[in-house]
Amino acid sequence: MYTFGIDIGSTTSKCVVMKDGNQIAGKSLLTGGIGTRSPAEAVRLAMEDAHVQREDLSAIAATGYGRTRYEDADYQVSELSCHGLGAFFIFPGVRTIIDIGGQDAKVISLDDRGRMKNFLMNDKCAAGTGRFLDVMANILAIPVGELETYSAQAKEPARISSTCTVFAESEVISQLAGGIEIPDLVAGICQSVAGRVSALAKRISIVPEVCMSGGVAQNAGVRDALSEKIGHSILFSPYAQLFGAIGAAIYAYDKKIKEQ
Ligand code: ADP
Repeated sequence: MYTFGIDIGSTTSKCVVMKDGNQIAGKSLLTGGIGTRSPAEAVRLAMEDAHVQREDLSAIAATGYGRTRYEDADYQVSELSCHGLGAFFIFPGVRTIIDIGGQDAKVISLDDRGRMKNFLMNDKCAAGTGRFLDVMANILAIPVGELETYSAQAKEPARISSTCTVFAESEVISQLAGGIEIPDLVAGICQSVAGRVSALAKRISIVPEVCMSGGVAQNAGVRDALSEKIGHSILFSPYAQLFGAIGAAIYAYDKKIKEQ
């Protein structure tokens, strides 16, 4: 049985086709989230990747910020549940998930069967989210995917003292004007995001194993800084940004099986 998960985010659309709820048969990830053409295009690309047609799909579940806008979905599921299901599928030992997406950050606790026990979320402030990195990458004219390469070359990470993205933006510009080395500045930016998210994570009991999900998981500069700040190693999967879509496809499978 094929099921389909679509995660329509604030910045990116992610899709996964799953076979029998336990095998990733196809996937897609496209820049452009809610309100753009990307969700529809991501659906097409994932089906093409899995060599399936719409009529082959037994159920579709939508998650993410734009989940209510996807009319072809049989189910709409919260991102918290989907990130939990997706992360637990990839890492069966995971108990704490730190999800940093384009406009929010969440810390999710799971029990030993992968069910959500607790969560905390920052969706009020861009600092400590992918948005902060996107703004800074734009100032530095560096693609967001290359920030980690610069961060790895830092000798002495800069200190970004502003907690507000708008003030931090001015601070970064004045540090640039002062002639700071770019790698040191980028490392400071990654540390700043990690500092904000670790403060959120410390309000929940962090039980290992710990993994990251969401797009920012791909940034090793943030991952390493976060790991140091919370005092736990952080599991990484190249599927991290797809965890929500994987979870949605698993949710659709579980629902369909129960209905049969
Ligand atoms: P959303 O679901 O809100 O669209 P995502 O979980 O897809 O959010 O994450 C989007 C964020 O991930 C972007 O704001 C960006 O900062 C970050 N990101 C995307 N691609 C990369 C990459 N290759 N390396 C590092 N960070 C990335």
